[in-house]
Amino acid sequence: MNSFPPHTSPQVARRPQGSVEKNSLTLTRQLTDRDFEQVVLCRDPASGLESVIAVHDTTLGPSLGGIRLRAYPSQDAAVADALDLAEAMTYKAALAGLELGGGKSVINADPNSPRRRELLAAHARYIGALGGRYIPAVDMGTTTEDLELVGRYVPTVASHRRDPSYFTARGVVASIRAAIDLTRGTDLRGVHVAVQGLGHVGRHVVAMLAEEGARLTVGDIDAERVRAVRERFEVTAVPAEDVLVTDADVVCPCAGGAAITEPVLDRLKARHVIGAANNVLADRGLAGALGDRGIVHVPDFVANAGGLIACEAELRGDDSGTLDRVEGIGDTAVEILRRARRTGTDSVSVALELARARLTSRRSGRPWFPSAPDGQPTGGSAGSGS
Ligand code: NAD
Repeated sequence: MNSFPPHTSPQVARRPQGSVEKNSLTLTRQLTDRDFEQVVLCRDPASGLESVIAVHDTTLGPSLGGIRLRAYPSQDAAVADALDLAEAMTYKAALAGLELGGGKSVINADPNSPRRRELLAAHARYIGALGGRYIPAVDMGTTTEDLELVGRYVPTVASHRRDPSYFTARGVVASIRAAIDLTRGTDLRGVHVAVQGLGHVGRHVVAMLAEEGARLTVGDIDAERVRAVRERFEVTAVPAEDVLVTDADVVCPCAGGAAITEPVLDRLKARHVIGAANNVLADRGLAGALGDRGIVHVPDFVANAGGLIACEAELRGDDSGTLDRVEGIGDTAVEILRRARRTGTDSVSVALELARARLTSRRSGRPWFPSAPDGQPTGGSAGSGS
């Protein structure tokens, strides 16, 4: 069995990631510090829309990311979430080798609002005004049907024909398989995985891991979802709040973001943290803390890129290599984990470094804009020769 020793990482830059630190910075300062290209705050009194579209970086191509429909405690909280999610999309696309930038949008509203369609239509008009710099897709609170509606107002939409969750789950399982092979030299038979969240991604993850012979513990705040999974698979169900601290080999967070907090870390028994949940660490500094304890962590924006890979294939209209590319996420995960071990750095810092290196090598100084009327691309990524 290969050992995967803990490291000490005092040299790791612990940029504030927690909402407290970030909220104390003004929005304009954040946009500069975090290199955002464009953030659009949208209001439409007629429909009651309050939303934000965040375009983080279009060096590699037009930004792509989901429309999240969620009731936030404040518009500031909605903006903060959109910024975090959009930035992560940039790194996700860069590490997956895609010609896409990072963006995300957030509608601050109850997903069950009776004005849901009006809100989506109003939001879509604002996206349309960006002329293709932001390509919307499904996300928490939105569906492929919603994207059909959005598609009436915008030049391009993704994931309106198929739900990307299956591909996201494939990438997560490929990451778990690759990490276990690296640290233990075994396949997944008998490996104990605790899956938090049995929604679109989580239930596929459970099915795939069961197929590979893993031992499974699951939990969800929705008892009906737990019941449905128990009916189909041999799993142990635990209360939702206990899943992440299960005495398992791997914990696989597939619910909301910020699931790994300091108190959770203190109680963590698993030696691997690999899941789908976006921005799973409540604070980026926790990546160093995981590494210091010898816990193998594949960053979420690496492990969960399968859905984005599938969306990009859908946009190109060529699905031939999609599954191979999604399985290739396992190789990227191993490269990052090996480099982290070699350099004594945490895996998130390593992944960000690799992503930024790809962006820097392609930076032309001109972000992606839609084609000019003569059909010539005007953006750096689309033919600048950089
Ligand atoms: P989903 O809304 O379909 O499922 C989330 C599940 O988590 C639900 O069943 C919900 O009841 C459960 N849940 C919520 N809070 C919980 C808690 N505290 N404990 C246990 N269970 C809890 O979402 P999804 O599409 O499956 O996405 C899951 C995560 O993966 C999200 O963070 C999402 O941003 C991320 N992600 C999804 C995709 C995709 O293709 N769907 C792609 C990339 C990242």
